[in-house]
Amino acid sequence: MITVEEALSTILSAFNPLPSSRMSILNTLGQVVAENITSKIDVPSFKNSAMDGYAINSNSCTKSSSQTPTILSVLGTVGAGEIPKDNVSPTTAIRIMTGAPIPNGADAVVPFENTNETELLSKNLPLKTIKIFKKVDSGQYIRYAGEDISSGQLIVSQGTVVTPPIIGLLSSIGVKSISVTKKPIVAIISTGSELVESGSNLSESKIYDSNQLAISAYVKSCGGIPKQLGIAKDDIKDISTKIKQGLTADMIITSAGVSKGEYDLVKKVLSDFGDIHFWSVRMKPAKPIAFGIINRKNQLPVPLLGLPGNPVSALIGFHKFGKPAIYKMMNKSVATKQNIVAILEDTIINKDNRRIFARVLVYKKNNQYFAKLAGGQGSNLMSTVVNANGLATCPETSSHMVPGEKISVEIFDWAEIR
Ligand code: AMP
Ligand code: MG
Repeated sequence: MITVEEALSTILSAFNPLPSSRMSILNTLGQVVAENITSKIDVPSFKNSAMDGYAINSNSCTKSSSQTPTILSVLGTVGAGEIPKDNVSPTTAIRIMTGAPIPNGADAVVPFENTNETELLSKNLPLKTIKIFKKVDSGQYIRYAGEDISSGQLIVSQGTVVTPPIIGLLSSIGVKSISVTKKPIVAIISTGSELVESGSNLSESKIYDSNQLAISAYVKSCGGIPKQLGIAKDDIKDISTKIKQGLTADMIITSAGVSKGEYDLVKKVLSDFGDIHFWSVRMKPAKPIAFGIINRKNQLPVPLLGLPGNPVSALIGFHKFGKPAIYKMMNKSVATKQNIVAILEDTIINKDNRRIFARVLVYKKNNQYFAKLAGGQGSNLMSTVVNANGLATCPETSSHMVPGEKISVEIFDWAEIR
């Protein structure tokens, strides 16, 4: 039996980062930037007000106070998006709104609250003159050109993962599209004559195909594009047809048919198709896994990951091996949300020296994490993955772990610790 690390390293060596393509920025969320992006403009591109108030020359108001206000005559109002019509002198002021350009001659903005503006407005008096009640410092409430970003500045470097603030920053310098590493297309095939599409009629002895959509969703959440190829019966022709349909993808994922049963025909088909190896990985769940490359004449080879059929095994197998492969194709490092150490509250028995990934529910009490099993650990029990918030690891070297022992837990990307 090979270790989880050996399996992962063989799998990863079959993948390379995909080429890049230029896309509109909103569609690049979560992808890796494939170029250095410098700004062609200053942001802000002009000096503007940080407050609603009065643009003034601070020399006239160095001693203003509520007892001895400075009185300035108001020349007019400038709003955001407008251009000031007048210059400010030491005896005048211009009403100014947040974001409006600072008029020539002004070097500070006095917020409305430090003037008698409210009083004048409440008495319906015209804003002809204004009293300044507070000493003014030169530069106050002014945003200077280039304060956020200066022209020529590198703002996003190659290798950065696109986040919502990056999209905001790129928009603020007028960039509409950028070059990013492509999203991998992942073909997904469920195999098994017992499977019917979720939502259709469920006749006796049939079950709904849950792997198709669970794996598709996980591919999507990693940033890949799932290509659902549906169900292949346990039939050589059927499986072959689906795999051929998957050859346009960057990776094929099958589920079921890789263990030792009579109908585990995926094994046979895959061996015919290419260089596929069947592994027993020293882990629980997801021991039986197939992996290899489908080589084609004059075309790029396509890696194939054959997951076990049981829904929990399929999901955990994907988590451990499919997700890192997708990340490698996207040029992204796999950062798990959170790895923590918790105090185990149950017993885990490790009968055959495999690495056990136990579904646990972690909670926090008195600044300490505790982990209890999230229910039965059978590889068919999908509800216990839903009830868990992480995977605890019992090493292959431990025959058992007991309550009170420290255990390392990987919190699922989608889960929370409550
Ligand atoms: P197999 O690997 O074919 O022996 O399948 C192992 C178990 O997983 C069997 O109980 C199958 O019915 C079940 N199974 C296989 N494929 C799926 C699927 N796509 N969705 C839900 N259960 C499945
Ligand atoms: Mg089967």
